[in-house]
Amino acid sequence: MEPYTSGMSAKQHLLDLSLDQLEAELEGSGEPTYRARQVLHWIFGRQVTHFTDMTDLPGALRDRLDADLSILVAEELDSSKAPDGTTKTLLQWPDGASTETVMIPSQDRRSSGRDRQRRTVCLSTQVGCDVGCRFCASGIGGSQRDLTVGEVMEQALRVAQQLRDQEERLTHVVFMGMGEPLANYGVTMAAVRHLNAEWGLGIGQRRITVSTVGLPTQIERLAREGLQITLALSLHAPNDELRQELIPWARGVPLERLLQACETYFGETGREVTLEYCLLAGTNDSPVHADQLAAIAKRLRAHVNLLSYNPVEGLPFTRPTDFQSHDFLAALRRQGVNAHHRQSRGLEANAACGQLRRRHGEGLGA
Ligand code: SF4
Repeated sequence: MEPYTSGMSAKQHLLDLSLDQLEAELEGSGEPTYRARQVLHWIFGRQVTHFTDMTDLPGALRDRLDADLSILVAEELDSSKAPDGTTKTLLQWPDGASTETVMIPSQDRRSSGRDRQRRTVCLSTQVGCDVGCRFCASGIGGSQRDLTVGEVMEQALRVAQQLRDQEERLTHVVFMGMGEPLANYGVTMAAVRHLNAEWGLGIGQRRITVSTVGLPTQIERLAREGLQITLALSLHAPNDELRQELIPWARGVPLERLLQACETYFGETGREVTLEYCLLAGTNDSPVHADQLAAIAKRLRAHVNLLSYNPVEGLPFTRPTDFQSHDFLAALRRQGVNAHHRQSRGLEANAACGQLRRRHGEGLGA
């Protein structure tokens, strides 16, 4: 895949830069380095995205920054909001490529009995996806390119800005949107660090989840990053035969190799891996599948998140009934597995991965 920079305009995308990099840029043009923290505080701390509004910067510096750097580069092509508040936004980047970002509202029940508002952004890391999961709209047409650090950060910043306008706060981040985050490894790691940084969005590492379909070498590399983020493995099939059928990329990666990599992750970080399992009616939801999944979850000491499939027009998979999903969940729990069934959020808002983009005629066959 061709490396890409947001170079369609002459301006640099400021959100590509870390604090150190912005300090170096400013120092190179004769400015004191502390200006970098001021700028980033305006952007990430207050979600101000126009240099002219950064009132504690000298006017000449504001003009120079505005001439050389862009904060937001995407155009919002579409957005839809479901009755449960899930909001999905289609962003178009300067080269014409588009990706989806989702904000998911939910509530955490605390031990005190009080609810805490959770506001999660689901980020995309690639334009399209090469993994090609048979049940996913984003995989149709493959991947056009990787997103940049700035493009990943811009998705989060835009959601933080929307939430600020509603007097709410972004609390959690999941890399579960379009693309395979570990296939765009360097960008994903830089974005995780910028999201977590005190000069960035300040999201705690334990509130950041990176989801992967399963690249063992990258999982082992992630284990050595010194991070405390959550790793979610999108398993979707509990045996090699079915997994290879549902996830074409899995053909080169035996399940055993993948599970060993997850054990390494747990061994190095002490963080339990989460297993994501999308229930497809009549495909991966039999009692035998529940037994196989339970064995894997117990081996990894993993939590299982079940999700009932959001049907995608033109794809041959259907959603199990609530009764079937409940049965599968009960079978896992009977075997001592810590499992939950996650509500499908925003079913009405084209919320299945890649569907808003598809509605706009993209991602349809390469
Ligand atoms: S489910 Fe995720 S990994 Fe699979 S094709 Fe869709 S975006 Fe790619």
